[in-house]
Amino acid sequence: MRELIGPCSNCGKDIYCRDGFLDGVYVDGKLLCFECTAEQKEESKNEKKLP
Ligand SMILES: [Zn+2]
Repeated sequence: MRELIGPCSNCGKDIYCRDGFLDGVYVDGKLLCFECTAEQKEESKNEKKLP
């Protein structure tokens, strides 16, 4: 069972709740998908992202 929670506030991807498991996280009241959460962690680790 999938329930649409809302779009990721960073990339706009739809985030679903699957069997009670949220396919993303709430950061400071904003909904983020796991990919963007990982990105933000990387950004806070390294000020600049190298290509
Ligand atoms: Zn995202």
